[in-house]
Amino acid sequence: MTVFLVGAGPGDPGLMTVRAIELIATAEVILYDRLIPVTALDGARPDAELVYVGKVGGGASMPQAEIDRLLLEHGARAERVVRLKGGDPFVFGRGGEEALILREAGIPFEVVPGVTSGVAAPAYAGIPVTFRGDASAVALITGFEDPDKPETALDWPALAGFPGTLVFYMGVRALPRIASQLVAGGRPAEEPVAVIERGTLPGQRTLVATLADVAERAAGAAMRAPAITLVGPVARLHDKIAWLEARPLHGRTVAVTRARAQASALATRFRDLGAEVVEAPVIRTHPLEAELPPLEGFDLLCITSPNGADELFNRLRVKGLDARALAGMTVAAIGPGTARALAAQGIAVDVLGERAVAEGLVQALAGLPVQRALIARAAEGRDVLPEALRERGAEVVELALYETRPEPLDPPTAEAAAAADYLTFTSASSVRFFLAAGGRPAGRVVSIGPATSAALREAGIEPAVEADPHTPDGLVAAVVDAVRLRTTTSEPQEE
Ligand code: SAH
Repeated sequence: MTVFLVGAGPGDPGLMTVRAIELIATAEVILYDRLIPVTALDGARPDAELVYVGKVGGGASMPQAEIDRLLLEHGARAERVVRLKGGDPFVFGRGGEEALILREAGIPFEVVPGVTSGVAAPAYAGIPVTFRGDASAVALITGFEDPDKPETALDWPALAGFPGTLVFYMGVRALPRIASQLVAGGRPAEEPVAVIERGTLPGQRTLVATLADVAERAAGAAMRAPAITLVGPVARLHDKIAWLEARPLHGRTVAVTRARAQASALATRFRDLGAEVVEAPVIRTHPLEAELPPLEGFDLLCITSPNGADELFNRLRVKGLDARALAGMTVAAIGPGTARALAAQGIAVDVLGERAVAEGLVQALAGLPVQRALIARAAEGRDVLPEALRERGAEVVELALYETRPEPLDPPTAEAAAAADYLTFTSASSVRFFLAAGGRPAGRVVSIGPATSAALREAGIEPAVEADPHTPDGLVAAVVDAVRLRTTTSEPQEE
């Protein structure tokens, strides 16, 4: 039996340590705080006991004595207990006290340091806490926030005289006192101050002010907890080094309604551009029991989705076949994603649609003589392609390899998706399933292409943006453009 006092980092799941993730995955019991990354417990064992010991709402924390009691109780009983805390467990996390209590009780423990918010939030705001010439020391500070409390743990004159950056792990309510005490202690009123709200999280905001006006400006900007307040000349570097807040989709929420299997790549693209992503899969693909016809005699094979490519090869494999079974056929793909899925199976496509819609593929096939065509596709695919080929005198076999089915959406996710700044749809069926699941778009609706837009209009929803090209890449670019356009037209810059 061991208790692990583990830091979960400041909020960005990517800042959790490898060790923290390992321990979470194996612990029988996890006692966790409020300020941990939202995905921190995703990797926990399904049978793990997860015990919340943080603040309830904006209210009081669980008393430390009660946390200590739980720690000892579980520590004595379970093989592995993780005590998960925001940031670093030994930086204002009462980790030291918990270690002492465990030692007294004779319960073995280990400490797993974490990335502390006082250093990470400034870093994500483009503020190095030390800087040659400007700051060769840094102080991490916390204290009582209630100005009415007579006892104060802080020696303000000493802090004012500290030769370096001051980092306060204190709420914005403490700002007036921090500023006035430091100025009273001799720090220049014009000294730069940065307040970083929700550091390292998608909604991170940074305010740079001076000791003279920070309290007023933070109130004006409605800065809220959790926040780090940093005092020192390095705060000025935010203007020069800010990178997170400079990303094109920073501060925007984007909802992805795609099937889970395909959604994550798209979600990652949006996240990398700075967006907060709501994954709300309303659709899932379900393989059908389609028998593969003998492939001899077909001179054209058309594949109209990456999933179609994967399903086709699943069928070939079942029959003990591989890519060689397609030898001699012209292989046509509707768009680059489908071409990539085929390339992964060893097939370099001969014909590629330019616009990733059926009409584009028809166009790309224009000059090609076709006798017998096989179209591998979804059951609910449109008739554009087979009809065009039949009109040209070809014999066409349509092979429905899979169908799309609705995926139930829980109400909070449906709400979050509907409220997103940009709600994206990558197919007509996902539009229908989203609406059927009770989703009602409130923000701007983004469609991947004409078929999806048509489904939206049918439901009385006018897409704000239609991607072109009609691919996931095109969709991402369209959202970035839409955001850029709105920032330059609706929010005139001061300078
Ligand atoms: N052990 C934690 C600190 C716990 S004290 C650590 O090492 O980071 C809680 C305080 O940390 C909050 O009041 C706030 O000042 C700060 N904090 C925690 N997460 C934060 C975040 N993501 N952004 C800004 N401040 C944060």
